Amino acid sequence: MSTKISKIGILTSGGDAPGMNAAIRAVVRTGLFHGLEVYGIMRGYQGLIEDEISVLNSRSVANIIQRGGTILKTARCKDFFEYEGRKKAYENLKKRGIGGLVVIGGDGSFRGAAQFAKEFKISCIGIAGTIDKDIQGTDYTIGFDTAVNTAVEAIDKVRDTMEAHDRIFIIEVMGRDAGYIALHSGIATGAENILIPEIKTNIDDIATSLQKKGKRKKLVNLIVVAEGDDFGGAEEIQKILIKKLPKAEIRVCILGHIQRGGAPSCLDRLIASRMGYYAIQCFLEGRKNVFVGIHNDKMNYTPLESAIKSKGHICDEWLKIVKVLAS
Ligand code: ADP
Repeated sequence: MSTKISKIGILTSGGDAPGMNAAIRAVVRTGLFHGLEVYGIMRGYQGLIEDEISVLNSRSVANIIQRGGTILKTARCKDFFEYEGRKKAYENLKKRGIGGLVVIGGDGSFRGAAQFAKEFKISCIGIAGTIDKDIQGTDYTIGFDTAVNTAVEAIDKVRDTMEAHDRIFIIEVMGRDAGYIALHSGIATGAENILIPEIKTNIDDIATSLQKKGKRKKLVNLIVVAEGDDFGGAEEIQKILIKKLPKAEIRVCILGHIQRGGAPSCLDRLIASRMGYYAIQCFLEGRKNVFVGIHNDKMNYTPLESAIKSKGHICDEWLKIVKVLAS
């Protein structure tokens, strides 16, 4: 082992995502397999600063692969933005001889890890875990597949009642900066309109097409909107559409946090297991300060400091398909 790291810490940070437990399990078991000591850090960077750190063994991660959430809990931590906070965090690692840190989280958590590794003698390896799938350098992020399947199941149910009553439904899904959950779940549920932060929403176009459909007696219409759409989410769009279509029955359903919970899908368990396994390989091979992703079904390593949200990568082709299939 070129870096001589014999003790590592692991934490989950930022927004939780189903499948994080599967990744924790993979990191712990692979680390132990290779003779590393593994420490679990509670509540992300907050627990690192507050010294909430304990040894994990193989049994600590038994029976968690199928559980949503994260056994290590997660948090956002203001103190880690400050040098003093990061220094405290480092001292807690140093006194235990921990030389490597696995950070499961999104681009924000990776930027924090990059800064930490720049200032202190610590190797950080990231694992892409976010339901939003908005990190450049990986085709998958842990939690997205589960979240999108939860959304699909819920939207299917709303569609049943929508059809029964000839209503227009605006369903809001998660995605403050990214429209992937809306785009995937919207196409999969046959939505007539999908509104996402990456594309400017033309509400007049939507109203005109709804008026036309009203003439054909097709008043049912499913609109899936990401919470970060430029009009400000489902309730704002409802207000505007009610003014333009006073006779229509327009309802809103905000799916909210159910999208974060639940048992991870098979795909999320698989990618979490693979990424966790390869995070340990990074330490063994002396790879430093990168995050583990998957691109074209191969492991892909991106420097933590260049972790950025993927924007504008929403496929125009997919949106064309939505228009054609809704016609
Ligand atoms: P996510 O990882 O899901 O994108 P956040 O953006 O909220 O979530 O980041 C999680 C945490 O990472 C923050 O609360 C903070 O503690 C840490 N962090 C993010 N950006 C930085 C930064 N530039 N410097 C130091 N720490 C950061």
